[in-house]
Amino acid sequence: MSNSPTVTHSVDADGIGWITFDDSASRANVFNPPTQAALRAAIEALAAEPVKAVVVLSAKERIFIAGADLKWLGQLADAPAAHAASRDGQALFGLLDQFKVPVVCAIHGACAGGGYEIALACHWRLATNARETVIGLPEVGIGLIPGWGGCARLPRLLGGKAAVEHILKAQLLPAADAHRTGLVDELVAPADLKARAKAAALKLAAEGKPVRAPAVAAEPAFFAEQRKFALSRLRGQPAPLAVLDGVEQGAELSLEAALALEATLFGEIAAGEVAKNLVHVFFLKDAVKKLTVDAWFPKPEGAVAPVPFKTVGVVGAGVMGSGIAQWCAARGYTVVMGDVKQEFVERGLGVIKGLFGEAAKRGKLSDEAAEQGLARVQGTTDFSDFADCDLVIEAIVENVAAKQKLFADLAGVVRTDCVLASNTSALPIEELAATATFPGRTIGVHFFNPVSRMPLIEMVLSPHTTRDTADCVLAFAKHLGKTPVICKSSPGFLVTRVLFFYLNEACLLWEQGVPSDVIDRAMRDWGWPMGPMRLIDEVGVDVTDFIYGEMKHYFADRFPSATVCHRMLAAGLKGRKNGASTGFYTYEGGKEALNPAMQSFAPAAVKAMDAKAIQDHLNGVMIAETKRVLDDGVLKTANEADFALLMGTGFPAFRGGLMRYAKSVGLY
Ligand code: NAD
Repeated sequence: MSNSPTVTHSVDADGIGWITFDDSASRANVFNPPTQAALRAAIEALAAEPVKAVVVLSAKERIFIAGADLKWLGQLADAPAAHAASRDGQALFGLLDQFKVPVVCAIHGACAGGGYEIALACHWRLATNARETVIGLPEVGIGLIPGWGGCARLPRLLGGKAAVEHILKAQLLPAADAHRTGLVDELVAPADLKARAKAAALKLAAEGKPVRAPAVAAEPAFFAEQRKFALSRLRGQPAPLAVLDGVEQGAELSLEAALALEATLFGEIAAGEVAKNLVHVFFLKDAVKKLTVDAWFPKPEGAVAPVPFKTVGVVGAGVMGSGIAQWCAARGYTVVMGDVKQEFVERGLGVIKGLFGEAAKRGKLSDEAAEQGLARVQGTTDFSDFADCDLVIEAIVENVAAKQKLFADLAGVVRTDCVLASNTSALPIEELAATATFPGRTIGVHFFNPVSRMPLIEMVLSPHTTRDTADCVLAFAKHLGKTPVICKSSPGFLVTRVLFFYLNEACLLWEQGVPSDVIDRAMRDWGWPMGPMRLIDEVGVDVTDFIYGEMKHYFADRFPSATVCHRMLAAGLKGRKNGASTGFYTYEGGKEALNPAMQSFAPAAVKAMDAKAIQDHLNGVMIAETKRVLDDGVLKTANEADFALLMGTGFPAFRGGLMRYAKSVGLY
C-alpha cells in the first residue's frame, strides 16, 4: 500500500490491481495537484507489479470523484497556466488509457467532470444503480469545457452528436440514463460493484482490451444548428462554442491531436471572464449550504440545535399558498391549508394534486411518494385546525389590515411555541405582526412564484424575531431544499425592491417613447432571459401596478412611479395571465408581437435609444438601489445580494452577479 491519504493502491491474490480514491480530509474526492500526484504514484507503482488488470474505484459512500477542485482551477493565473493544467491532467489519465493491462472503472456516487474523464480513459466502465450515482460532464454549466479528455474521448465513445448533446446539456445523468446513453457499459447493484468490477477485470485480462466500433462523426449541419442556438439563446457564451469547435475539428484528428486542441481551447476558456464569473456563482451557491444566522444574532452560550418543524399550516389556498403547501408536503411535512371558503380550499387542493401529478410525470417523485405527499395535505376552513402546527405561513391577500387581523386571529388559536410567518413580497414584517401575541416568533418567509421551480426564499427578520425562531426557519428552508438569504425587514426586502425599481424605470423609458421591443431586445442581448416589458406581462400588470403603489408608499421621495400599468389596467389589460392579447405584447398562437392596443397609450413620438444606453440605464438603476439596500443593512454582503438577484430575478449568471458586474465597470 502507498501512504497517500487520497489515493491508495493494492494488488489482490488474483493479480488484480486496485486504485482507490478516498480523501480522508474531505467528504468528497476531487482532483487537485496532491490528488493527481497520488494517482500518478499509484499508477506507477502498479505498473511495476505483475498485475493482470486494474480497477479504479472510490471508497466514499456518496461520491466517486466530484471533478476538479474549483478553488484550485479558479486560481490558475492565465491561459498558459490553464492550458498546462489541461495537458497535465490529460497526460495523467493517458497513463491509464495506455496501461499495459486493461483498466476497469467502478463508479458509485457522483462522478462529475474530471471524475468522468478518468472513467473515459479506462477501458470498461461499471456504475451502480444507486440514487446517488450520477454521471457526466457538467463543465459548460460553470463556463468551462471538459479539458481532461472529455471533448476528445466522448465523441469517440458515443459519436459526435450524442457527445455534443451531453456536454452542452451540462447535466449529470442518473446511472440508468448514463447506461442507456452509453456513458457506462454495465449497471450493477451497489453490493455487487466490487465483485462485478473484478469479474470484468478478469474477463478483459483473458480477452484483451475491448475493441469498440468506430463512432460516427456528426454532420456539419448539426454543428451549424448548434452554433446558431449557442449564439442566439446562450448569448454567445464562449464555452458551448468551444465544445462545438473541439468536437467538430477533433473528429478529423488523431486522439493525441484532438487532446492538444482540447487543451488549447480549455486554456482560453478557463482564463476568460465568463468562466471566472460562473465559478464565482458556483461558490455563491455553495456558501448558502453553510449559511447560519450568526451574522444577525449574538452567539448563544453553547450550541442549541433547532427543534425541527413537523406540522406546517398555510393560510390562503391561492397561487402561493397552494404552491407552498405542496412543496412542504412533498418534503415530508404534515400540512394544514386553510382558506375562507370551502370552494377556495377545493381549488387549492386541485392545484396541489396537479403539482404532485406533474412532479411524478417528470420523474421528480415516484408515483407512491406523490400519493403519500398529497395525503399529507389537509384542507380546512376551520382555523382551530391550526392548533397543532409548529409553523403557520400566511399567504393571503397583500393587504396590511387583512394580514394584521389574521395574525391576531391566529394568535388565539396556535400553540404558544408556534412560529407565525408571512409570505408577503414587500410589507415590513413588524407592521403585519404588530397584532401577534409573541412578536419574537414572527418572521417573513418570502417564497417566489412558481414555488416548485424558484429556489430562493428571502428569510425576513423583524426587529423582534428571536434567534431561536430564525434558526428553526433557516433549518426548515434548507430542509425544503430551497436556497435562503437572510434579510432585515424593510419594504420590498431585496428582490421586490430592486426588481420593481428596475421594471418601473423600464416603464418610464416606454413612457418617453422607447418601444417595448427595443427595451426588451437590449436587455435580452445583455443576457436577461426576457426583457422587462415581457416580464411585466408574465408577472401581471395588476400585480406590477400594485407593487408600484407599495414602493411609492414606502419610498415616496425616490420612486417616480410610472403610470402606464395603471392606464393599462383601466383598459382591462392585465398581462398574459388573462388572455393572449392583453399586455405589452400579444401572444396569439404562442407568437409574441407588439400589442396594437398599446398604441392608444403610447407617446406621440418614438424615442431612439441604443441598446448600450438602455442596458447601462436600467442596470444602473438596479445597481443604485442594491447599493442603498446594502447601505440600509437589509443584507449583510454584496455577495448575498448577487446570489438573491441571480436566484430571484433571472439575472444572467454568466455576468457573475449584479454587484460583481458593478465592480467590474467601476460602479461599486
Ligand atoms: P391569491 O389571491 O392567489 O391567494 C390569496 C388567497 O388567500 C385566496 O384564496 C383568498 O381567498 C385567501 N384569503 C384572503 N384572505 C384570507 C383570510 N383572511 N384567511 C384565509 N384566506 C384568505 O394571492 P397570491 O398570489 O397567492 O399571494 C398571496 C401572498 O403571497 C401575498 O402576500 C403576495 O404578495 C405574496 N406573494 C405573491 C407572489 C405571486 O407571484 N403571486 C409571489 C411572492 C409572494
